[in-house]
Amino acid sequence: VLSVRGLVKRYGERTVLDGVDLDVREHEVVVLIGSSGSGKSTLLRCVDLLEELDDGQVLLDGRDVSDPRVDADVARRAMGVVFQAFNLFPHMSVLDNVTLASRVVHGVPREQAERRARELLTRVGLAEHATAYPDRLSGGQQQRVAIARALAHEPRLLLLDEITSALDPELVGEVLALVRELAGQGRTILMATHEMGFARQVADRVCFLDGGKLVESGPPEQVLGDPVHERTRQFLRRVI
Ligand code: ATP
Ligand code: MG
Repeated sequence: VLSVRGLVKRYGERTVLDGVDLDVREHEVVVLIGSSGSGKSTLLRCVDLLEELDDGQVLLDGRDVSDPRVDADVARRAMGVVFQAFNLFPHMSVLDNVTLASRVVHGVPREQAERRARELLTRVGLAEHATAYPDRLSGGQQQRVAIARALAHEPRLLLLDEITSALDPELVGEVLALVRELAGQGRTILMATHEMGFARQVADRVCFLDGGKLVESGPPEQVLGDPVHERTRQFLRRVI
């Protein structure tokens, strides 16, 4: 589904991503790990075409969507994104939050968009909160709404950036359970997380980023259990 080739991203003099190659195949769950500042969010933002690349390519289903001639908005429709901070619109109901993009960007009729949104809200366990406003929901519930919204236009690829790190510990589980369920349904997911236990259980592949380089990548039991690189070992000693 996704191929990242030789991706370089700089902010001024700083090279934040330094030649990253990464593939995510259909139905695969790939988890990015690495210290704060290692470039995980930047990588996800580059894949979502929110950043201009300094070098390299992002291919979606074989098509180079990082080509400046490609309409980034069109390419982005193939991706559903959830970030750390809940980006729900506070002045809109849960239902309107989930249907907004379908109605406004994709021109789906309201009735059809709402039918689909109610289905999605049922799937994330929030059917009865459709008319509520985000401030009446817990952080975990808000994040599940954000996931429902990301699923609204059947993305080929879900990008999740530390979607549990702003949550109280007792709410982390419900959001991770939902991601686990999506993974079980065969969704293709690229996610950054600090939840190593979750990575071990759900990832098909774990990628360790360090200083903008993809140092090591492989099955979770290998990268988390028996890493090849000293940098990976040092990182794991600190976080586990
Ligand atoms: P965390 O685990 O804390 O989320 P991360 O791995 O997601 O970290 P990034 O947010 O990708 O790390 O940041 C990588 C580096 O890029 C950091 O050193 C950060 O300061 C720098 N950076 C990120 N965004 C910008 C920006 N808009 N302008 C300048 N520097 C930036
Ligand atoms: Mg980040």
